[in-house]
Amino acid sequence: MDYKKLLRDFMGKFGPSGYEKEIAYLLRDTLSGLADSVAVDRIGNVIATFAGSDPECPSAMIFAHLDQLGFIVRRIEPDGFIQVDRLGGVPEKVLPGLNLRILTKRGGYVDGVFGNKSHHAAGADEKYRVDPVTSLLVDIGAGSAGEARALGVDIGCPATYLPFSQELAGDFVSGTAVDDRGGLVALAVAAARLKGKRPRATVHLVGTVWEEFNLRGAMIAARSCRPDIAISLDVVLAGDTPDLGRRYEAACGKGPALVLYSFHGRGTLNGTLPHAGLIELAERAAAEEEIPLQRFAALGILTDNAYAQLEGMGMAAVELGFPARYTHTPVEVANVQDIVALGELAAAMAGRIGSDFPLNRY
Ligand SMILES: [Zn+2]
Repeated sequence: MDYKKLLRDFMGKFGPSGYEKEIAYLLRDTLSGLADSVAVDRIGNVIATFAGSDPECPSAMIFAHLDQLGFIVRRIEPDGFIQVDRLGGVPEKVLPGLNLRILTKRGGYVDGVFGNKSHHAAGADEKYRVDPVTSLLVDIGAGSAGEARALGVDIGCPATYLPFSQELAGDFVSGTAVDDRGGLVALAVAAARLKGKRPRATVHLVGTVWEEFNLRGAMIAARSCRPDIAISLDVVLAGDTPDLGRRYEAACGKGPALVLYSFHGRGTLNGTLPHAGLIELAERAAAEEEIPLQRFAALGILTDNAYAQLEGMGMAAVELGFPARYTHTPVEVANVQDIVALGELAAAMAGRIGSDFPLNRY
């Protein structure tokens, strides 16, 4: 399997939170030849199940989110320009001059651009100012509100950055929604490994919805799978660019990362304090399979793992990730080798879950 191509295929699909159908169906089709069963639940989570050989084993849910951040049309101006609100954590300073894709009421797409005041007419103060997304106008080429609505664009239509990917040197890929289409590729890698060697534990590989919106789509998947163990696959922040100084050790191209601590820290009291048995499992699986494993801890990060772990009687949970640069911009960068190794690590962990795995924290 050409996983770089698969990543670019995944990145090419439109899928902001709540509108994950395209990417969900592609993931479903990708996993359907590999897992024992693949289902899409009521809210759109894709659940691929590998039945374990030992019913005494705790079961595991390994998941990555389908959705990407985006925008929602809020108002259409009389002259046809469009105002949007953000859907998820959009870095507003990347927006002016950027391409946008809107899903219309009829199910097609209309492309547009975030306007940026003509440079020749911009005052010195405007050139160095970041304007909030709510003050920007999207130009779809419509001359009036009526013309925009005739194209199917209306209040409530979702939008994303225009899906884009490009290959950089080596095994680097850049573009939109590397977060978390890279995690979905890792799921595909794990599925191929698990198909080759059936695990003792029942394993659910899940593409989750709503992560960039409310982080809670994974909870619904957990309610139908009822797993004992939660392992999430998402980005970690690569600290290998000069702009991050000496903040994190994790670097692209040096393998997947084990997340030892995540906490939102900006108002939301949630994060993941990983289960010691899963830390040990990750480290042992990585060592035995000769997968390099980086360590990562960060304030300011929150994934759907934090909510999934609260389901049932409380799951043993850990977050794994692949390093990514420039997160949430349309030019996120990651190394495909890290993503493949992340999938291999997840499968290696799943394959090592036995009936003696200690679910209690102590
Ligand atoms: Zn993510």
